[in-house]
Amino acid sequence: MARHTGPVCRLCRREGQKLFLKGTRCYTEKCAIERRGYPPGVHGRMAGRRRKQSEYATQLREKQKVKRIYGVLESQFENYFTKSAKTPGVTGENLLVMLERRLDNLVYRLGLAPSRKAGRQLVRHRHITVNGRVVDVPSYQVSPGERIQVKEKSREMPLILGSIESRGKEGTLPWLEVDFKSQSGTMVEIPTRETIPIAAEEQLIVELYSK
Ligand code: SF4
Repeated sequence: MARHTGPVCRLCRREGQKLFLKGTRCYTEKCAIERRGYPPGVHGRMAGRRRKQSEYATQLREKQKVKRIYGVLESQFENYFTKSAKTPGVTGENLLVMLERRLDNLVYRLGLAPSRKAGRQLVRHRHITVNGRVVDVPSYQVSPGERIQVKEKSREMPLILGSIESRGKEGTLPWLEVDFKSQSGTMVEIPTRETIPIAAEEQLIVELYSK
């Protein structure tokens, strides 16, 4: 399936919760979920009155939600699942950890971009370095201790400065260290499920792919 290019707020409304796909707007009363908290489309308002969804539909929706949060394609998501199933440990947790270790996600988590989509764009446009070398692959798996930094020439970009200004107040996750002055940060350790702030039931995704 191709990458979604339409209005991203529809994706949140479809999943019935905030997926934070639009940067700082997501934290304001302009958020579409706040104003129209029902599914999109002409029958959206009726959705709440429909009968309970099947087990398969519940699992599918959970997979779609996580895929949309991280902005990955179906085939990429399946690859992550295959790798996480082969990795020792709990498959669902392995899956979320792999998604969290993506470079575009970490640029967002560090507060250097207002959304994962913006983080991906910064990486693709070669504004981000890892250990001093430009990396332009959004799916790059960051290892603990690697230093992620905005390239020196890119440090006055309004997108980055605006993100630091607004997201800098949020505080950092326990497995990250950030230095806004040098526009850099590090993943100090691999996150655990408890420290990944994603409202998802990853076990449902495991059940879906195990059918
Ligand atoms: Fe989702 Fe953000 Fe749009 Fe709200 S503003 S519906 S959280 S993308």
